[in-house]
Amino acid sequence: MSDGINRNGLANRFWDKKPLTKLSNREWEALCDGCGKCCLNKLEDEDSGEVALTRVACRLLDDATCRCAHYENRHQFVPECIVLKPDNLDTHAYWMPQTCAYRLLWEGKPLPDWHPLITGDPASVHTAGVSVRGWTVSEFDTPEEEWEEHIIEEPL
Ligand code: SF4
Ligand code: SF4
Repeated sequence: MSDGINRNGLANRFWDKKPLTKLSNREWEALCDGCGKCCLNKLEDEDSGEVALTRVACRLLDDATCRCAHYENRHQFVPECIVLKPDNLDTHAYWMPQTCAYRLLWEGKPLPDWHPLITGDPASVHTAGVSVRGWTVSEFDTPEEEWEEHIIEEPL
């Protein structure tokens, strides 16, 4: 099943050949593995700066598809949702999931073997057990003071 990310017709291993700032929009978008983990709420330790992901999902995340339910007009509902771009990645990479392709490439690391760009299969992120499919809880049902109980270990 498609994850809505168009990975067709891109140059073989383009991410190894160009810096992130030189990628086309399509190449940039295709780097997303569709895991949905950047849509989980995070807890950040003010003193250490350490970030922990929780299984408490953004109100718009559909954890069956691992996609945003209203991606195009999401800022009407979640104004603080980040638009990740090559020129702001350096300010956001630290809180991105450890398996996130943008963070991995920004850190000079390779894409993992299960990445859909490598497998050619959008489902491989789910079969590898890396996505949020089926295990999030709603932020509506989970008060913020309980988020600590929902911290997840990374990488999944
Ligand atoms: S964590 Fe990264 S790879 Fe996963 S959905 Fe978010 S942007 Fe895409
Ligand atoms: S608004 Fe959509 S893209 Fe933004 S965090 Fe929520 S689910 Fe993810």
